[in-house]
Amino acid sequence: MFELAKQRLASVFKYIEVDEEVISRLSVAKRAIIASIPVRMDNGELKIFTGYRVQYDDTRGPTKGGIRYHPRVNLDEVTSLSFWMTVKCAVAGLPFGGAKGGVTVNPKELSKLELERLSRGYIRAFADVLGEARDIPAPDVYTNSTIMGWMADEYSTISRRQVPEMITGKPLHLGGSQGRESATGQGALYTLEEYAKRHQWNISQVTIAIQGFGNAGYHFARLASRMGFRVLAVSDSKGAIYSSSGLNVEDVYRFKQEEKKLASVYCDGSVCNMLDYEEISNEDLLALKVDVLVLGALENQVTQLNADKVQAVTILEIANGPVTPQADEILEARGIQVIPDVLANSGGVVVSYFEWVQNKSGFYWEAPEVREKLHNIMRRESNVVFDLANHHQCTLRTAAYIHGIERLAGAIDQRGNKKYFST
Ligand code: NAD
Repeated sequence: MFELAKQRLASVFKYIEVDEEVISRLSVAKRAIIASIPVRMDNGELKIFTGYRVQYDDTRGPTKGGIRYHPRVNLDEVTSLSFWMTVKCAVAGLPFGGAKGGVTVNPKELSKLELERLSRGYIRAFADVLGEARDIPAPDVYTNSTIMGWMADEYSTISRRQVPEMITGKPLHLGGSQGRESATGQGALYTLEEYAKRHQWNISQVTIAIQGFGNAGYHFARLASRMGFRVLAVSDSKGAIYSSSGLNVEDVYRFKQEEKKLASVYCDGSVCNMLDYEEISNEDLLALKVDVLVLGALENQVTQLNADKVQAVTILEIANGPVTPQADEILEARGIQVIPDVLANSGGVVVSYFEWVQNKSGFYWEAPEVREKLHNIMRRESNVVFDLANHHQCTLRTAAYIHGIERLAGAIDQRGNKKYFST
């Protein structure tokens, strides 16, 4: 996966000149740590979990990136995600480098207390390399604000001082930011809005299908339908639903919430239990004839095996890495534009940055101020990327990488390179 992720880097060097030292630095992670995390289970047994933290590059600032709990988490995946975070923070112009973390675990099999012990154990295992000026985690797949609150508490206990800014995505009462929960979906919608303006789309006629109805996908669906886009289909890991006249997103969400087992912090309900809508498969959803296919679940969803079945005009990547490089080529040849992850899902890390700033200053902003600041960044950076794509006649993904790598290369260069030392 990491080798595939790096292919995106290589595509940029056709368009911009970058010093060889920059390429060498950006081809490997600065630091990768694997730790065992012992957890006492409710039945008294000791179970050892494997945790990862990869800090990819910190030239532009402390590294930043979420922590994922998933059975498939491994070093290759975490490294790829940390690389994307590095590019994403640069695309958004944030003073952060990129990192990522994870634990190989199926969190749905843990009780809430086991989950808390695991989360505190993760912080104990990595506390030496984390911190508000070193590396700042956040939520990712199957981690949430409750978990971030436990982690912040554990870190404060270890360091014997209150340091809420060492982690973002916390609950509001523990120093979280207004608007963080919906930031990724909101940011992606601001990008889509700019894209729609450029293509002179009439929003009320634009149809959307969304893969993934978790934090990012749900908020995107809710805000998009509120803005007037027509959301025709959504899916989760258990299946998908479709309605040619459009879904009522809030009803779908309410239904999922009602089905949830109260003992669990995870939703066991599935959107496909909704009776009023047609049940389709996840594969069907990816092949729907809609204007925008939103990918908001996991990586490697559109591959060389199914890219020829996509009928959408545009793909919006809210998940990280949902389209493989081979699929990119097929989609490009078919004229399907992909609004890439490193731009489209950066709203989450942008509001995480706002949370860090607010924690550091001890001064908290109201929700409209957060939204306005997020809107300004997404509008500005989206338009830079769209202009670069026009200028270089390249894909939006390549344009986003050009934008991010130029910023990274500038920072790496200014720390000194061969030319600098030989003159
Ligand atoms: P989440 O755990 O809240 O939701 C994931 C959703 O995807 C769930 O609804 C799950 O049922 C669904 N899903 C899993 N496998 C699926 C499949 N095969 N088909 C259809 N649906 C499937 O996670 P999230 O925070 O919403 O993150 C989703 C993606 O967005 C991830 O790639 C994550 O890295 C990325 N992302 C999230 C944020 C954020 O702030 N939450 C920020 C940037 C990027």
